[in-house]
Amino acid sequence: MIRFANVSKAYLGGKPALQGLTFHLPVGSMTYLTGHSGAGKSTLLKLIMGMERANGGQIWFNGHDITRLSPYEIPFLRRQIGMVHQDYRLLPERSVVDNVALPLIITGFHPKDAEKYALAALDRVGLRDRANYLPVHLSGGEQQRVDIARAVVHKPQLLLADEPTGNLDDKLSMDIFNLFEEFNKLGMTVLIATHNLGLIQQKPKPCLVLEQGHLR
Ligand code: ADP
Ligand code: ADP
Repeated sequence: MIRFANVSKAYLGGKPALQGLTFHLPVGSMTYLTGHSGAGKSTLLKLIMGMERANGGQIWFNGHDITRLSPYEIPFLRRQIGMVHQDYRLLPERSVVDNVALPLIITGFHPKDAEKYALAALDRVGLRDRANYLPVHLSGGEQQRVDIARAVVHKPQLLLADEPTGNLDDKLSMDIFNLFEEFNKLGMTVLIATHNLGLIQQKPKPCLVLEQGHLR
């Protein structure tokens, strides 16, 4: 699914954020990405999303070298990917179902179809009965599940998460990890950047460990 070959990234005027990264994420795998703050986890996810460009090496996504994509091709890459954030990033003035439907509306789905798929995705995360609420009326754990529903509503091949349980207690964090596991069992490849070593121990999976921009 994803193959990094000797990938490096330095931000303008900064020291290298990532150096010499080589790894492979097989189709259907679920993998953790760990490392201290500043180790390069977010940068790695942004390279996969095409939000930052590598300075060296190749990144293969289903056999396409995405370090060479033109700006016009990046939206097609993004449609294969779902992204879950630490801070949920829901639109506060839109209902839960509208938030989840939005990525589909943007790509040109008919609003009726977008709503149908959004409700199906909310059903998957156990929140169909909250569809017409505003985000502010949900708990933190529920808002994170809405963010996940929005990330998977277009059935992406790859699900990325950046510290998805950073704002949640242990019980809610485990619920969220269980959800990722369920989508993984449906066939999605999953990569989760996390500090949550307790959860990793309870639910062992392959782990990429970053130390100051290098893979350990
Ligand atoms: P992590 O997600 O593991 O905390 P990041 O990928 O955010 O790590 O950061 C890796 C390194 O790149 C850090 O030294 C950070 O300061 C630097 N960095 C991240 N984003 C930028 C940016 N937009 N501009 C300059 N430096 C950045
Ligand atoms: P629908 O067929 O209406 O999309 P599903 O229950 O099959 O209803 O799917 C609901 C949501 O679950 C989808 O939007 C998607 O997020 C996720 N999903 C279901 N099946 C898959 C799958 N095979 N691969 C990836 N995601 C899936």
